[in-house]
Amino acid sequence: MSYLDDALQTIEAMNPHEPEFMQSVREVFDSLESVLKKHPEYARHRILERVAEPERTITFRVPWEDDQQKTRINRGYRVEFSSALGPYKGGLRFHPSVNLSILKFLGFEQIFKNSLTLQPIGGGKGGSNFNPKGCSDNEVMRFCQSFMTELSRHIGPDTDVPAGDIGVGGREIGYLFGQYKRLRNEFTGVLTGKGLDWGGSLIRPEATGYGVVYFAAEMAQARGTSLEGKDCLVSGSGNVAQFTVEKLNHLGARPITLSDSGGFVHDPDGIDLDKLKWVMELKNERRGRISEYADQFKSATYTPRGDTSANPLWQVNGDCAFPCATQNEIDGEDAANLLANNISLISEGANMPSTADAAHQFIEAKIAYGPAKAANAGGVAVSALEMAQNGARTRWSREEVDDKLKHIMTNIHANALDAAETYGRSGNYVDGANIAGFLRVANAMLDQGLV
Ligand code: NDP
Repeated sequence: MSYLDDALQTIEAMNPHEPEFMQSVREVFDSLESVLKKHPEYARHRILERVAEPERTITFRVPWEDDQQKTRINRGYRVEFSSALGPYKGGLRFHPSVNLSILKFLGFEQIFKNSLTLQPIGGGKGGSNFNPKGCSDNEVMRFCQSFMTELSRHIGPDTDVPAGDIGVGGREIGYLFGQYKRLRNEFTGVLTGKGLDWGGSLIRPEATGYGVVYFAAEMAQARGTSLEGKDCLVSGSGNVAQFTVEKLNHLGARPITLSDSGGFVHDPDGIDLDKLKWVMELKNERRGRISEYADQFKSATYTPRGDTSANPLWQVNGDCAFPCATQNEIDGEDAANLLANNISLISEGANMPSTADAAHQFIEAKIAYGPAKAANAGGVAVSALEMAQNGARTRWSREEVDDKLKHIMTNIHANALDAAETYGRSGNYVDGANIAGFLRVANAMLDQGLV
């Protein structure tokens, strides 16, 4: 049996009830066959089994009181996956679906994504099954304070630096930061995604969405084309989706859909910057539903998600797709629908939005397919820039940060293509990103000995 199969069997046996985590492990390992042949030292040092086992996993009770003075209990987590390249770095997700398997998949992905950015950051992820939807600001604050009371024991600006993810935006980061500061009596860059007046970086809110589009533009350019005039399907309507739509507009493309867990809107006239402003107010201030877009703009139609297996959003005609909602939102049937409509480019904003079957179809069809690990790395890259600014007690201009972000995305694209070429997988961004991300981590692990 090859080392790869042997390692996979061991990891599977240790994590029998973690389907999302095993999906992400297989996805990375599938790219590594030729790497392991060229580097027998990785097998000798059992790098695969070691990198797939978190350095530390913390779970804890989060008690809080709702507005009716009822006691509520949630579960908190922090998976400190790998510190080979720097302090653990990765977001916090507050969503009722959160469990250890999902956080381990996100943390595992994060290791290689962070490595691709070439910034000095390790990989981690955390969160809670808390659902901020429908909670008052005071309830969210009480939850965040209780969550941070325990988390503060485990994090620090040189140890572990969390950020936002689904359900954790500027409001939550503010409450979490306030409680950390109060408990530790120190004002440090322990979280990223902070408010601009108190240590946040310009462009951090925009970074993931902008990066996804920069990566798409690089893929288009490598094929001798551009995003200009292209009809783009975007899913989700949160942070990543909003700034993907904004940057698509800047580059002359036409985003025509947005969604949430209830359904999607299709606006064939395009979601321009004025309409986007309205969406941002709807989602970020009023915390409303995307269905209201079709009441506001008569050019649009709303389609509820319904219970069909295929997602009707991926049946809309378009040139490019930007899945920006959540994991496994494009399955094999959806991928077949996208390809039947001649979609030619996919840049993933969400983490692991395509199932293994869907990803396989995109690779076989040889379309420009930018996997999340590479395409959405702009968010964490600018988080690393926020850490650098905090450490130096300075603040860079919007243009400076945006230039650095563009440069990082261009490098990720080039390094993924190079690695794919070197290891005989020419043009395959999935293998290229996995290989380039893995090599830095594996080599750092060898250098640092058996820890
Ligand atoms: P937000 O909470 O801002 O938005 C999430 C969006 O996705 C909402 O529109 C939400 O709809 C929708 N959504 C969430 N869960 C589901 C579901 N199960 N089915 C359908 N729709 C769903 O999160 P972000 O925009 O920050 O994150 C979106 C994705 O991007 C996630 O995969 C995240 O891991 C990834 N990502 C985020 C980064 C960041 O910097 N924020 C960085 C890198 C990756 P609803 O309101 O109905 O729940």
